[in-house]
Amino acid sequence: MTTLVIVGAGPRGTGLLERIAANAAELLPSERPLEIHLVDPHPPGAGRIWRYDQSPLLRMNSMAEDVTMFTDERSTIDGPVRPGPSLAEWAARQTEFAPYREVEDPAVRAELGTLAPTDFPTRRAQSAYLDWVFRRAVADLPPHITVTVHRDTVRRVEGPVDGPQLVHLGDRVLTADHVTLTLGHLDSAPHPRYAADAGFAARHGRFHLPPAFSADADLSGIGAGEHVVLRGFGLAFVDLVALLTEGRGGRFEETPDGPVYRPSGREPVIHVGSRRGVPYHSKTGYRLQGPPAPLPRYFDAAAVDAVLARPGPLELRRDFWPMMAKDIGFGHYHELFHAHPERTALPWAEFLAGYDAHDWYAPELARLIARAVPDEADRLDFERLDFPLAGLELGSAEELQRHLRGYIAEDADRRADPAHSADLGAFLALLSLFGQLPRVLASGRLTARSVGEEVDEWFFGYFSYLASGPPGFRLRQLLALSEAGVVRFLGAGVRVDRDEATGTWRASGSTVPGHRVEATALIEAYLPKHALARTRDPVLRDLHRAGRIVEEVVSDEEHTHRSGLLTIRPGDSRVLDPALDGGPHPRRTALGPHTSLRAAAAFARPRTDSPGFRQNDAAARAILRALAAVPAAGGRPTGRPTAPLAARVVGPGPRPAGSGPEQLLDQVLGGDVVRS
Ligand SMILES: Cc1cc2nc3c(=O)[nH]c(=O)nc-3n(C[C@H](O)[C@H](O)[C@H](O)COP(=O)(O)OP(=O)(O)OC[C@H]3O[C@@H](n4cnc5c(N)ncnc54)[C@H](O)[C@@H]3O)c2cc1C
Repeated sequence: MTTLVIVGAGPRGTGLLERIAANAAELLPSERPLEIHLVDPHPPGAGRIWRYDQSPLLRMNSMAEDVTMFTDERSTIDGPVRPGPSLAEWAARQTEFAPYREVEDPAVRAELGTLAPTDFPTRRAQSAYLDWVFRRAVADLPPHITVTVHRDTVRRVEGPVDGPQLVHLGDRVLTADHVTLTLGHLDSAPHPRYAADAGFAARHGRFHLPPAFSADADLSGIGAGEHVVLRGFGLAFVDLVALLTEGRGGRFEETPDGPVYRPSGREPVIHVGSRRGVPYHSKTGYRLQGPPAPLPRYFDAAAVDAVLARPGPLELRRDFWPMMAKDIGFGHYHELFHAHPERTALPWAEFLAGYDAHDWYAPELARLIARAVPDEADRLDFERLDFPLAGLELGSAEELQRHLRGYIAEDADRRADPAHSADLGAFLALLSLFGQLPRVLASGRLTARSVGEEVDEWFFGYFSYLASGPPGFRLRQLLALSEAGVVRFLGAGVRVDRDEATGTWRASGSTVPGHRVEATALIEAYLPKHALARTRDPVLRDLHRAGRIVEEVVSDEEHTHRSGLLTIRPGDSRVLDPALDGGPHPRRTALGPHTSLRAAAAFARPRTDSPGFRQNDAAARAILRALAAVPAAGGRPTGRPTAPLAARVVGPGPRPAGSGPEQLLDQVLGGDVVRS
């Protein structure tokens, strides 16, 4: 019996399990039984981020039809494609997909029953889908592979390079032939830059929240009517505002002019500002109106190879971004010319010939676009999109509120209107960049400054701002909250100073010079950044202290960039181990957002050849090959003996009240999972 321990049973761990099931027939002979232990304090499938146990107010920022956990005909993987339903398809036809089990919560059941493919579901609805995906992955395992779920946290992993690994849980030690760390989004101790505000809050009895996962944040310290500054206008901001308004009993009333907010009186006054001063762009709420663009066209493997063949250090913005931008533009104009030809002045073929010939920033290209696309609103301008308040100075705070309401309404209207479906064409092209971006990074050819400032800060920040924004209805709610005076905009270039005399924070922005507000609470409205050196995850902390994992550090003569990410080897995702001269540990694999293989932090969209599936498939295949090669007398778990079930649940961890292991097992498996 060989043993694999998967630490972290969220979407990644579940996706890996699905790929193990898909590849086992080819790579793991049936005379090599495998026991998989899946360890997570949160429910398998959903894991921490997607657990059912969170506010029903929290939503996905993806449409139901854009979320899948299954490979399809577009997936370029070595292993077999195993199609399966997207969240939308599963919701609509749950009984058709084994192993079926009725969703317990009546509200989630009702939501799933009426979920339109273009709806933005609650996180609880996605939790139900992931729960089913997990149960299906288990059901799809061949009889010689069993799964045991431990509702527990892994504290430590130790063991030799060429022998069994000891995996320490709260109450037992598992012996594994291979360990996989699919740990996902992790907490870290706040960056020292927040210490001054934390100290200030402690001195003056004020509320300060460093970057946190909103679902876990304790906001009870913020009083009704208290003035609170939220620094940050992205995903965390949207969640926090929902929790501080509807979460406190307020409600939105639908009217023909959009939602109107009816306060409960328990809300604080929320002042929001950021560098840009505007919320992330709304997600589009429609489908492509024309045929999908054949992507990539410019930022493809051959083009990347050609740049990599040049001597000398490379930079993302100088050497790759023009090709990337051109692909985004291609997605945009492909959709515009095919779906809305009446707003173009040249035949597509003629436009494309000119577009192919010039660089993105060449004046000839700008002239071609100006000639072919008469309306400026139909042209793609990255610089204008990036900082819409740049250079704007307004005379009063009220003027700023009106200006931003106008900006937000326009954004929400545009993103809901299929007449502007070129925006979706650009968005899909932006996603497609992740096909090549990991290769560029893995080449090691970018300067350290470029990786730090251009990739990790600029590109990922811009990507989130353009592509990870809220659904349109959230922006309409924001307008209603602004009209109700519950949310107040601070503008761009926000800064927050501490006033020791009054014990208040003073927030100001550059859009209304001289204007500032005083607040007694401050929230850093960002998700925590991965920071291996400050991680609160026990297993990473221990491996880091022991010198068995290493933070990705990119350095050259001019600059050193510490990304905070766990360094893995591209290809098979093996963990790089300083004790092996920085070589890959043959028995340790890591996948997911805490690793150096950067990806869009998002679920796969159907038919996009998702890089996440490719990585899962490659890692699963490498792991199965390694397990098949373990000498037959490989390690056995020192936990409980194997039960005659394809999956079971053991170990401590939070459970619904009154449920013993059997009930929990039933919750995990439903009634009809295969038995071995
Ligand atoms: C708040 C938030 C909202 C998002 N919303 C969307 C969205 O709407 N649409 C979209 O496409 N993408 C969204 N994403 C991105 C994407 O869905 C996530 O990146 C996804 O959750 C990643 O899955 P994962 O398994 O890698 O990580 P996680 O979901 O974080 O799962 C990792 C699991 O590992 C477990 N774990 C960690 N350490 C240990 C340990 N020591 N022992 C045992 N278990 C451990 C954790 O408990 C957790 O369950 C969102 C991400 C976040 C953070």
